[in-house]
Amino acid sequence: MWILITTASDAFLGPSHVSVISGSKIYDKFPKDYGRPVVVTGFEPVDAMQGISMIVKQFVEERCEMEVQYKRVVNHDGNLKAQALIDTYFEKMSLFRWRGLGNVPDSGLKLREEYAEYDAEVKYKDVLPIAEIEDHKLCICGDILRGMAKPQECTIFGTACKPTTPIGSCMVSSEGACAAYYKYGNLI
Ligand code: SF4
Repeated sequence: MWILITTASDAFLGPSHVSVISGSKIYDKFPKDYGRPVVVTGFEPVDAMQGISMIVKQFVEERCEMEVQYKRVVNHDGNLKAQALIDTYFEKMSLFRWRGLGNVPDSGLKLREEYAEYDAEVKYKDVLPIAEIEDHKLCICGDILRGMAKPQECTIFGTACKPTTPIGSCMVSSEGACAAYYKYGNLI
């Protein structure tokens, strides 16, 4: 897994679902190397509120640490059995192209060569050739993902781009920032 660190962000909430497998150890470098606190937080509203509260408390107390709010499921080392299975079947890709962000080294996994018969990209490469799709020129998902812009700053937010006609990655998924702003900004 890779983590995007941006100077526009003062602190981070670590995603609970990923952390159940990876363990909270993957965030140790946030405070140590980047001077940013992180709190691994669950997705329920009460979890998110407590996670934010723990971040605020760190600022008030002038601390910069990695903490876990979602302790009922996440531990420091994570699910070692699942990690071993992932290592058995997958390997890191040297480069992966993310919508909105472009190429990021060591940011994706692919099936190891010995399991290529199960790899849809290999198996169906002749019938379904992989086509690179460029991001829409008006889409500012990259800036939103880096914490440098808000969805409302996109000129087509809520007009040409909405959950029923998504143009960028932040609107495609219901977890995307644009989709959330659209839903909870009472635009639907
Ligand atoms: S509103 Fe749509 S086009 Fe604009 S940034 Fe969000 S996903 Fe991209």
